[in-house]
Amino acid sequence: MSASDHSANPVPISFEFFPPNTPVGDEKLRDVVKQLGALNPEFFSVTYGAGGSTREKTLNTVTAIAAAGFEAAPHLSCVGSTRDGLAEILATYRAQNIHRLVALRGDMPSGTHMAGDFRFAADLVRYVRETQGADWHIEVAAYPEYHPEQRYAARDLNHYVDKVNAGANSAITQFFFNPDAYFHFVAETRKLGALAPVVPGIMPFHNYAKIAQFAQRDGIEIPRWVALKMEGFMDDTASIRAFGIDVVTELCERLIAGGAPGLHFYTMNQAPLTAEICKRLAG
Ligand code: FAD
Repeated sequence: MSASDHSANPVPISFEFFPPNTPVGDEKLRDVVKQLGALNPEFFSVTYGAGGSTREKTLNTVTAIAAAGFEAAPHLSCVGSTRDGLAEILATYRAQNIHRLVALRGDMPSGTHMAGDFRFAADLVRYVRETQGADWHIEVAAYPEYHPEQRYAARDLNHYVDKVNAGANSAITQFFFNPDAYFHFVAETRKLGALAPVVPGIMPFHNYAKIAQFAQRDGIEIPRWVALKMEGFMDDTASIRAFGIDVVTELCERLIAGGAPGLHFYTMNQAPLTAEICKRLAG
């Protein structure tokens, strides 16, 4: 099977990494790419530190993935960046034949502020579309439980629609554990005319405490029946792992049955849980 043949998967899958900080991390990621590459992903995406803090590392990771024969999609955030700085990064990607991008606003670390040429992700999408043309595949972020800064759901939905109208091809969601939130988001944004595919972002339970912390920070619901059971396992890592795989696999199955066009896994640069869930989904 070739790298682009994902026929064994019930829907196309993709995997997200963050750029490693050390040579050991690079080495480990090469191995993870090999393991997850065997599952025939459509692409691997690589995150980007807002304000350009991981600029070189994101580029190096993307280059390594492309060199291993896979499609790579760098993330790019616009907060604190200038038009010229972004143009330079886009030119570097174009020179490497990379035409897929996850376009974001990003968040500056708290307490820092850098003036930039763009305020919102929609501005970046418009800029990339205008300067790079139609052959780029632009992904944007979607929030089934709404963006944590946004007080009014309707406004957040409209701002999502702005990104699609600015030229996004498809969206990847923030992680969530409540499939109804996803189905509602898709139905509402379709009613508003945004028909781009919305791919659920899936977070395996790599580390329950950390994920619960992210969820709390970003306003993501962990169902009570999942939270209490996880907490009750205490330090029984085998039970946490087994239950987490069951919960996330069932979530994926419900999403696929309800029409999700693909699945994007937040791998945390680790293969085993994601691989196990994908294998179960492939039956
Ligand atoms: P936007 O779509 O611009 O929205 C941000 C907020 O502004 C929302 O509350 C929205 O409602 C509001 N808004 C939008 N337009 C307007 C307007 N015209 N007027 C008023 N308000 C408006 N962060 C990183 O730093 N690096 C990454 O690599 C990265 N990857 C991510 C990948 C995915 C799939 C997801 C879901 C998130 C990722 N993030 C990343 C996090 C993201 O940068 C943050 O969630 C950030 O706070 C918002 O980015 P956005 O692109 O969704 O912003």
